[in-house]
Amino acid sequence: MQKKNVKRGAKAPENKKFIYKEGMNVAEIAEGLGLSAAVVIKKLISLGIMANVNQVLEQDMVELIVDDLGYTFEIEKVTDITRYDEIDIVNDPKDLVKRPPIVTVMGHVDHGKTTLLDTIRKARVAQGEAGGITQHIGAYQVKRKGSVITFIDTPGHAAFTEMRARGAKVTDIVILVVAADDGVMPQTIEAVDHAKAAKVPLIVAVNKIDKPTANPERVMTQLSERGVIAEAWGGDIPFVEVSALKGEGIDELLDVVELVSEMEELKANPKRLAIGSVIEARLDRGRGPVATIIVEHGTLRVGDNFVIGSTYGRVRTIHDDLGRLAKQATPAQPVEITGLNDVPQAGDMLMVFADERTARDIAEERTHRDREGQLKGQKRTLDSLFGDMESAEKELNLIIKVDVHGTTEALNGLLEKIDIEGFHVNIVRSTVGAITENDILLAEASDAIVIGFNVRPSAAVRNLADEKGIEIRLYSVIYKVQEDIIAALQGMLEPEFEETVIGQAEVRDIFKISRIGTIAGCFVTDGVIERDSLVRVIRESIVVYEGKLASLKRFKDDARSVRAGYECGISIVNYNDIKVGDIIEASKMKEVE
Ligand code: GDP
Repeated sequence: MQKKNVKRGAKAPENKKFIYKEGMNVAEIAEGLGLSAAVVIKKLISLGIMANVNQVLEQDMVELIVDDLGYTFEIEKVTDITRYDEIDIVNDPKDLVKRPPIVTVMGHVDHGKTTLLDTIRKARVAQGEAGGITQHIGAYQVKRKGSVITFIDTPGHAAFTEMRARGAKVTDIVILVVAADDGVMPQTIEAVDHAKAAKVPLIVAVNKIDKPTANPERVMTQLSERGVIAEAWGGDIPFVEVSALKGEGIDELLDVVELVSEMEELKANPKRLAIGSVIEARLDRGRGPVATIIVEHGTLRVGDNFVIGSTYGRVRTIHDDLGRLAKQATPAQPVEITGLNDVPQAGDMLMVFADERTARDIAEERTHRDREGQLKGQKRTLDSLFGDMESAEKELNLIIKVDVHGTTEALNGLLEKIDIEGFHVNIVRSTVGAITENDILLAEASDAIVIGFNVRPSAAVRNLADEKGIEIRLYSVIYKVQEDIIAALQGMLEPEFEETVIGQAEVRDIFKISRIGTIAGCFVTDGVIERDSLVRVIRESIVVYEGKLASLKRFKDDARSVRAGYECGISIVNYNDIKVGDIIEASKMKEVE
């Protein structure tokens, strides 16, 4: 959408401010602007958006309108503690101490992200860390030369973007992995864009340097074309040549991470009640809801009362990234906690409160607000609007159930991107947990396929699915899901339909009925006319209208079909201009073998 080339503030007097609150509807926006709702609605229409007064608009859209009307846009400063995830946490500078950097690894598929994360993780164990159980909790820490680095153990930018979208800022540094034999690829560029958008410093790991076909110079050239200029070339981005597979250059890479982190002066206040973000969450059969948290500020302790999203709990156990029981977690430390009442979502913020009562009240208030938000009406985003315009497109509806939250994000990201000649995926529901009867019922209602990722349906659920004719597909590899969905969409494209004429009728009489419109009294001269036919109105050999049958009657009764030699009454959807002598030709779309 283009911003108009109007000078800001040209129309409105100086200092016209608009204060935005989340979930504002059109009426509230108009009030905030001191304008009538009609003016705002008109503005929306001029932007191609049909909205009523109760419509809730997404922030970016409000910003657009407000800006266009010459106001300055400001987000309401939140002081309400129940909205703790929107408040700027203020710490006394003297309480702030150095904390470890949190690093996310991004890059194109197969360029070696997973191998790099594995190599770094294993090196830690080899260096004599106790425990040594490489339990995956979604993040891990490496201790070296007295300092610590935290790595988010879910490579790729899907999780990164999703988390950021939910307000979690859990990455301080991005390591961009580029395979030296392959060079810059689409996801490399996407990763650069994401890191830039998040204003997170970038370190380039030029990987697979052991390969004879490796060409690190080319990587530098290609990235410089994207504004990512190596320090060696006078830019400010560190490039490190590594072989994730052979473990070469890893030490240098970690040195650079430490250096960048020094420059960022990352600090946290370990003294306050803990605040953190959910990296992953899942339902554990024995332990109930389990979440991996990275502490941002404060110290998280066993027994702490907390709120996550709109649920509360009390920390029952803390395990560190090596699977060892711990009593507490300090800033930038990833830990797995139990004691939650529900499975939160990746990106949800955790905040500890002094007592259980407060935590519960705040969680209740947040639940209440969530519910109100939902009642207020569906949010319209710019994306969904563009979607609306093309809603004639075909969609493959999916219900996705997975074992771990991080996977939801990765899967959704991959699947939502698929677009095959306008055919795409619509994710109806995507949650963590087993496939339930409820999922099957939703699939039935929404004409969806159920995808299970590392989860299995019970026999009862399977039976219900069979009974309802719902397809359940089970997977354990993300890319396999993508592959199959693409194949399925291509399959949806394949059957070609051809229009086949099934009958003709001649119009012999016209009845105008005020509430219903024109009914044509017809005589079927050929074939058959069916209730769900497509019809053409032919006048003197010219097609004057094409559309659908609205009703088909034999005398006063609705008929499913009327054969040649019989009379019938026909009305056509949105067409009243039928004349005596017209021929109504009926046809159906039939699949071509
Ligand atoms: P990801 O998709 O980015 O996570 O990539 P992977 O870590 O799964 O690596 C893809 C393939 O590249 C695997 O077969 C790895 O063994 C291989 N690979 C990764 N790093 C290196 C490397 O430094 N040298 C070589 N020769 N192969 C590598």
